[in-house]
Amino acid sequence: MEKDLKSQTLAGLERLVVGLDQPKYLAEYIFSAIQARRRKVSLAGGVNDISAITTLSKSFRAKLVEEGYYISKLEIVDKLTDPDGTVKYVFGLSDGGRIESVLLFDDDRRTLCVSTQVGCAMGCVFCATGRLGLARNLTAGEIVDQVNVIADCGLQIADCNDSADSSPAGRRPVEMDSKIRNRISNVVFMGMGEPLANYDAVLDAVRILNNSAGRHIGIRHLTMSTCGLVEGIERLADEDIQPRLAISLNAPTDAIRQKLMPITKKYLLDRLFAAIGRYQRTTRNRVTFEYCLIKGVNDTVLHAQMLVKRLRGVMCNVNLIEYNTHEGCNLKPSGRQAIERFAGVLKDAGIETTIRLKMGQTINAACGQLGSKRTEKSE
Ligand code: SF4
Repeated sequence: MEKDLKSQTLAGLERLVVGLDQPKYLAEYIFSAIQARRRKVSLAGGVNDISAITTLSKSFRAKLVEEGYYISKLEIVDKLTDPDGTVKYVFGLSDGGRIESVLLFDDDRRTLCVSTQVGCAMGCVFCATGRLGLARNLTAGEIVDQVNVIADCGLQIADCNDSADSSPAGRRPVEMDSKIRNRISNVVFMGMGEPLANYDAVLDAVRILNNSAGRHIGIRHLTMSTCGLVEGIERLADEDIQPRLAISLNAPTDAIRQKLMPITKKYLLDRLFAAIGRYQRTTRNRVTFEYCLIKGVNDTVLHAQMLVKRLRGVMCNVNLIEYNTHEGCNLKPSGRQAIERFAGVLKDAGIETTIRLKMGQTINAACGQLGSKRTEKSE
């Protein structure tokens, strides 16, 4: 059994506590001490020590330690801020690995893009993480702690009027020592790694973040983004908890998709869309399709028309992403005109379409750039 208490869902803690001959309700004491947004237990420097959970008896705390249980904690080893306000956090793992998370500010929304694996095995050619290969899966504790640690930094949005140092978006992040508004409104499992290739830990992380005794982030504000692992989508359709689903689509045909995303040879579009159909029948959730526009590869009017055909009958919206360059990849981003033209075809067909602004480019925090060589000095 996983000995890190931070990786446990409330149900997992209940089993653990009962297994140690303790009353079940103590599980909630442990869970909220570790995961809650406003922790009832005062713990200097974060909850990384079982002995600090003083809502438990001394003897039970000692028993947990004796049984080998512990509470992990991620350490921020680097933090970079883009002029547009986007912040990239680099975390050091206990085995020396590195992962990255990105905090994005959009009006009143604070969206945190978290990693689910160290590296990634999927090898998408437009993605810097894919070039790293897979080192290992993250535990549920390592996934949720990206949220906990960043929220605990106390980030707050201030109007640009408060400062000359304003971002193009008109808002900027400010770190506060007091009056912390630390609520992260959305979490997207879209950082380093393929979430559905680390299914159990990611779903546990969803359960932990969603739990009302924990951070209590609404299920509609938790989104898993996949390159299209069909078995995972089918499994998700049958879960009792259903986060939002985003599909990294990037092409309207199997031939183009396979050039960009080698894993899709295993998952042809017909099979993928059958799984999406099943997910939608059981969840009634709209699906987001991510489509990264690459010059001369997938960005013509014909490609857009084929995409419209492909999406017919699917309850969805499309995010068009400007391709973000990174070292070692010679693909080129589509021009503004091509992007607008592509979006126009989708919108004319009645598909809700958003052109995602480039965010965090100077710090290699934009889509597809995580894990790439750093271009900026850290703070
Ligand atoms: S786009 Fe996602 S699935 Fe593809 S290599 Fe990058 S992290 Fe992995």
